[in-house]
Amino acid sequence: MHWRNSDIMIETDVLVIGAGPSGSIAAKYAALGGANVILIDKKSEIGSPKRCAEGVSKEGLKFLGIEPQPIWAVKEIEGIRLVAPDGTDVWLNDEIKLPEAGYILERKVFDKHMAMDAGRAGAEIKIKTLAKSLKKEGDHYIVSCESMGKEFDIKTKILIGADGPESHIGRWAGLKTGTKPKDMESGVQFEMCNVKMKNHSVLEFYFGSVAPGGYVWIFPKGEDIANVGLGIIQTETDKTAYEYLVDFVESCPATKDAKIVELNVGGDPVGGLVKDLSSDNILIVGDAAGQVHPLTGGGIINGMTCGMFAGEVAAKSIKNGDYSQKQLSEYDKRCKYLLEDKMNKYLKVRDYLASLSDDELNSIAATFQDVEFEEISAVELVKKLVKISPKALLKLGKLF
Ligand SMILES: Cc1cc2nc3c(=O)[nH]c(=O)nc-3n(C[C@H](O)[C@H](O)[C@H](O)COP(=O)(O)OP(=O)(O)OC[C@H]3O[C@@H](n4cnc5c(N)ncnc54)[C@H](O)[C@@H]3O)c2cc1C
Repeated sequence: MHWRNSDIMIETDVLVIGAGPSGSIAAKYAALGGANVILIDKKSEIGSPKRCAEGVSKEGLKFLGIEPQPIWAVKEIEGIRLVAPDGTDVWLNDEIKLPEAGYILERKVFDKHMAMDAGRAGAEIKIKTLAKSLKKEGDHYIVSCESMGKEFDIKTKILIGADGPESHIGRWAGLKTGTKPKDMESGVQFEMCNVKMKNHSVLEFYFGSVAPGGYVWIFPKGEDIANVGLGIIQTETDKTAYEYLVDFVESCPATKDAKIVELNVGGDPVGGLVKDLSSDNILIVGDAAGQVHPLTGGGIINGMTCGMFAGEVAAKSIKNGDYSQKQLSEYDKRCKYLLEDKMNKYLKVRDYLASLSDDELNSIAATFQDVEFEEISAVELVKKLVKISPKALLKLGKLF
């Protein structure tokens, strides 16, 4: 990061860097709380390209007070199919309660709508604006930006870093926000048409050596359209995520005749919350803060929930004229209360699942065929796993 002073200086109460879902909602709630807010993103089109399988839970949207709109909630999900390496599959749908079921989004539309909500709440939005460097001066930050060949600085009382999985903002500010390579899932995905799923309203998950340290997903977006992707932990294998995906797509009956219309690549920080969520004059949210479910890799709802907390806390701090870490630590407390305990448990479940061989997964799937499920949620699945597998009981017995 090289600092360069610019002649143009814009002043604001709150600057949010990154107009992904976490940043946009932070900007919205900061503006609703009465702060002057600027939201910037380096992209010329918010939400594009997507780096996401686009699944969100109904409960999560409801908690955030967001009413699903057909323009961005493109597919309602009615169940789950879990597939073992030998093809044994477990169907979880029909009469089972699905508290974590939800929608497949069109992120390119959703992200833009979340930014519009921030704009409607009063935030100023600057697209195609890159934050290049920052420095702390007294009781504020100055962020050096570039937009369409022009350089300018933004002076802000509170900086919110919502700059995604490859985040620089926290690190530039001297916070401990790094993700270890073993905790960064490499994600790659094709959006495909001509996908022949057994049921086009069900999420499919494939486990085992098809995706070491992660899983393969097929998330339906329409009658024959789906996001087909996988996440792997790169330190577990020499093959690339892309090579795993090509192998999977060519061999899976649902996708072998499908056509690729989009390629999405991205990292997913699944190691839990970063060490420093805030410091004087700064908050870190979303993927940049490790607010991703360690087991599923889903980060939209967690990031948005914490983004909402960040916006509320920032607005309150502006009202009180106090931007110190002590004041901002309310944000840390709320995030940790919501996520820390659950994340620590799911990190253990993730490690356990990654330790299973294909044979072990096959025999678990076979036993699952006879298990009665009352509801489907990650917690319920782990509880059932513990009941049927002595190894799981040993490793995860007291977790949930
Ligand atoms: C392959 C894959 C599949 C996934 N599938 C799912 C899923 O199905 N469900 C789910 O919930 N989650 C999923 N995730 C995770 C999800 O995509 C993220 O958790 C979510 O996008 C995080 O939102 P965010 O706002 O924190 O960051 P992002 O959405 O990454 O937004 C960050 C924004 O910051 C901007 N930015 C970065 N640096 C700068 C800068 N210096 N200046 C200006 N702007 C900057 C970027 O342009 C970007 O718009 C998946 C991730 C991957 C990689």
